[in-house]
Amino acid sequence: MDLSLADRVTESKGWRDGIRCPRCLSSIRDAGRQPFCSSPACSYYKAGFPVVNGQPVLIDFATSIFDRAMYQGDSGSVLHRDVSRRSLGSRLHRLAFGKNPVAVANCRKFLDLLKKNSDRPLVLVIGGGAIGSGTEQLYGDPSIELIGTDVYASPHTVLVADAHRLPFEDGMFDGVWIQAVLEHVLEPETMVAQIHRVMRSSGLVYAETPFMQQVHERAYDFSRFTRSGHRWLFRRFTEISSGPVGGPGVALIWSIRYFSRALGAGDKLSRLISLPFFWIRFFDAFARGRATSDAASGFFFLGRRADQAIDPHSMPSYYDRQQ
Ligand SMILES: [Zn+2]
Repeated sequence: MDLSLADRVTESKGWRDGIRCPRCLSSIRDAGRQPFCSSPACSYYKAGFPVVNGQPVLIDFATSIFDRAMYQGDSGSVLHRDVSRRSLGSRLHRLAFGKNPVAVANCRKFLDLLKKNSDRPLVLVIGGGAIGSGTEQLYGDPSIELIGTDVYASPHTVLVADAHRLPFEDGMFDGVWIQAVLEHVLEPETMVAQIHRVMRSSGLVYAETPFMQQVHERAYDFSRFTRSGHRWLFRRFTEISSGPVGGPGVALIWSIRYFSRALGAGDKLSRLISLPFFWIRFFDAFARGRATSDAASGFFFLGRRADQAIDPHSMPSYYDRQQ
């Protein structure tokens, strides 16, 4: 399946008019070829922004973990990226850990709710350099206008951004999809505040974030969340649904892999070593209740933008109510 986002994006809604300077939120001049901030008071008025693979790199380098020098050529990626997810490592990963058990159903729900809000929903994908597992419906639905972003350029992105400072005007998106990203960022709270900012009133967010998973993507891995911690992160959203993405069985296979890795197996051999334990994840079908969330591999959260944050006093009962 060829899912080139650049081909999918139309100009009909004029979403490019909503592109903003990541530092000062002024408009961007000539975003396609030689992007500059339009405000003379901003340092990016003169310095401008790089372009990689024809995509503007709208990052405020003064506050980002990423440097301008990283975007001199090629895609701007600091890591090897398997954007097609067809490498040997990606295949071994799927054999050991299985497919995402919830994303397909959650994606369908996300799309159904989006279409109730708008005839042609505009959806921002953060971390969309590689297509997320279980998101084929999102990418295959012609009624959705997708804006893919990541910290590097790929065939599935239209611009490069650091989501700590999203280069978009307020309230322009009907939905935001952020899958397996929030563990890789310095300030998840800042990023969720940005998601809230660029989303229209009653817009929808879908997030998947790891809990019991070891460090991946090397230097670019910073946080994990319990189910309650993930709920609190999205406290200015009303919860529609949430739950584990991969249960304790999946988490245990992760642990076996990283146990062997710590003893010297390395990235590839540790994948092979964990492979014979694939069957452990089938026990996740029998896992129940809070004890499952206490040991899950990760969590999803589907929510609707709200004006007020939830009450901190509600958090203990949020934990106690888990089924
Ligand atoms: Zn600016």
